[in-house]
Formats: sequence, C-alpha cells, structure tokens
Amino acid sequence: MPGFELFGEEERKEVQDVLDTGVLFRYGFDQARKGHYKARSFEEELCARLRVGHSHLCASGTAALSIALAACGVGAGDEVIVPPFTFIATIEAVLMAGAVPVFAEIDETLCLDPQALERAVTTRTKAVLPVHMCGAMAQIEAIKTFCDRKGLVLIEDTCQSLGASMAGKALGTFGQMGCYSFDYVKTITCGEGGAVVTNDHALYVKADAYADHGHDHVGHDRGKEGHPILGLNYRISELNAAVGLAQLRKLDKIIARQRSHKQEIKAALTQKTKLGFRVLPDEEGDSATFLAFFLSDENQARQAAAGLGQAGVDGCFYWYDNNWHYIRQWEHLKKMSAAARLPIDLISDRPDYGGIASPKSDAIIGRTICMQIKLAWTQAEIDRRIDAMVSVLRG
Ligand SMILES: *Cc1c(COP(=O)(O)O)cnc(C)c1O
Repeated sequence: MPGFELFGEEERKEVQDVLDTGVLFRYGFDQARKGHYKARSFEEELCARLRVGHSHLCASGTAALSIALAACGVGAGDEVIVPPFTFIATIEAVLMAGAVPVFAEIDETLCLDPQALERAVTTRTKAVLPVHMCGAMAQIEAIKTFCDRKGLVLIEDTCQSLGASMAGKALGTFGQMGCYSFDYVKTITCGEGGAVVTNDHALYVKADAYADHGHDHVGHDRGKEGHPILGLNYRISELNAAVGLAQLRKLDKIIARQRSHKQEIKAALTQKTKLGFRVLPDEEGDSATFLAFFLSDENQARQAAAGLGQAGVDGCFYWYDNNWHYIRQWEHLKKMSAAARLPIDLISDRPDYGGIASPKSDAIIGRTICMQIKLAWTQAEIDRRIDAMVSVLRG
C-alpha cells in the first residue's frame, strides 16, 4: 500500500501552492487563498473517482470511522458487529463512540463472513462494520443484503482498499458510509488523512458538521455559522490535503502497477507450488496491494514466514503473531485497558472480551501469509523474488 514510493514533483507543487498563500485552513480566507482549496478539490476528485455522491476529507482513517459511526447514529450502548482481523483502530472507534464491538468470524476472503452475522445479531445490534482487508473485498453484496433485511446500518472500513471494487462498484460505496485512510503507509497518502463517503446527502451534512464542532458551513462568516449538533475537531490541514491531491491523481497508475506485479508472482506460484490463495469475490476488482496465500497449518506458515525472511523476501506478514492486526495479541482490548473509564464499563452485561474465541478465524489467519506488493520493484527484482519464494514454498 505504498503511495509514499511515488512522492515527487506533483506533491511538491500542490504543497507549494499552499505555502505560497500561507492559508493552511480549509475553510474561509477566500481572498487570501487565491483559489486554492486543496481539501475541497480532493473531495470532488475522490467523488468522481469512486462514483459516489459526497465525501468529507478528515484527519485520519480513525477519525473517518468515528465520524461515520456518529453520522449514522451509532452511539451509547449500540452493538456493532466487527471482524477480529483488522487494524485495532476499527475497534477503538466503536469503543470511543460508546458502542459495543461484537466479534464475528472471518472467512477465506480474510474479511467478515456473511454466514457468521446471524449468530452475532441481538436486539441491540445497530450496525455491521466489515473491513476490506489487505487491498481486497469482503463478500460485500451478501453482507449488504443481510443488513438491508435486518434494518442494520452498514459502514465499510475501506482504509486498506481504496480503488478496489466489486462488480465495478467501488468498495466503500455499498453501505451507508465508507471510510478511507491516507496515513503514510496506505495506497495513497496525505501524510496523515482520511475520508468518509456516502450517497446520502443527510448523512454527509451530519458528517461534515460532526468533523468540525457541528459547524453547518453555511454562509461566509465562520463565527455566525449555526451549530445543529455537537461534534469534535477531525479537520485536515490544507498541507496534508495538498499531498493527498497529488497522490489521488496517481491512484490508477499505482493500482495498475500493483496488479501487474502481483499477477506475475501469483501466476508463477500457482504453477510452481501447491499454495492456496485468499478467496477474492471479484479478482478484477482487487487493488493488489498484497498477495495473501495459505499454508497447510500454523506450523508450516510460521516456518514459511521465517524462511521467506531468511531468503531475503521482505514484506511478508504473518498476521497471527502481529500485535496490531489480529485479536490474538490484543491484550489491551481483552483487559479493556484504557487511559480512563470507558462508556462500555457502564454496561454490566457486555461481552467478556477476555474470553472471546474465534476458532474459525484463528484457523484461517494461523496459516495465512500476506506479502506486500511494492511499486518500485524492477523486473529483475520480481524474477529474483519469484525464485526465492518458489524455493522456500515448494515443499
Ligand atoms: C490504517 C487503518 C485504519 C486507521 O487509519 P489511520 O489513518 O491510520 O487512522 C483503520 N482501519 C484499517 C483497516 C486500517 O488499515
């Protein structure tokens, strides 16, 4: 997911526009800014690229999740169904909203299993929050059908899968809201940044206000604006938005190169090894930031990950042992260790997070290795990588 690999002249020019005026704030200062509205321009171009009605650019992907939950009316005591394989931010956003994360299993897409939702639903379920992990899609159509049938809010965490699609429709545009991250290691970067998208104008208005202390952004005098709701400050600066604008214009090039690199490696491994691969409901829509493959069991996977490292095949992640992306190592969550008392501590019959078991997800993540696809690889590097992978993984 390496937009930072392509940092260059284009990013410098957009940032220079902002430095030339000194207007680092996205709102107002209409005279001084000489026509430069980087955050607003980013939003317009993102909407066009994703074919979605509205977007709001904000400070981070985590902020985007918080904004989406608030705008969609998910709050105190509401249950939100989440997967155990994600970045911890997904779970933190639910907890900080005062809501209750309820874990359901993943399937071989490495994302929330639509078959597991029924068992996780209670009378308090308000939303389902699938995460399109590692560049590709959950079975999002089946998840959406389930949410529609049950009257549940669907929020997509698309932080790792900007530019991926399912049957030609952008991931992040299936539910009420989609969330993206533009932190430094994502498909494109603002340095730090995030966005929410929606086709629902009323949800957009709420998100736009919530992310800026409830400002309704009507008129040209910030001090006189109305405040229909309370909110917080999740704004992005124009400097960060400027970097993102240049990066967004490179998205298609980034994805095309990732796909070509991935295809070549996957084809070689298919031919020369017996590995299984992550299930992709729509292979053509894969943004190809990662190649995920399955070993036969946990032992084999751990050995293979070590072997790949020794053979100089860098960027191979064994998520099962990772501190940030899989529930197994989330001791702080299991103990609900926080800086201060959390809203969930007031709920006496909340799930016992220390005792949560997700055996099906354990079995899948336990034998999965995910290799990051880099943009800068030369043909010689790809050839060498394939040879090294085949020699480690052939057995
Ligand atoms: C990166 C990420 C986030 C959080 O994004 P930040 O911009 O780093 O706050 C949330 N969810 C997932 C799945 C992510 O990968």
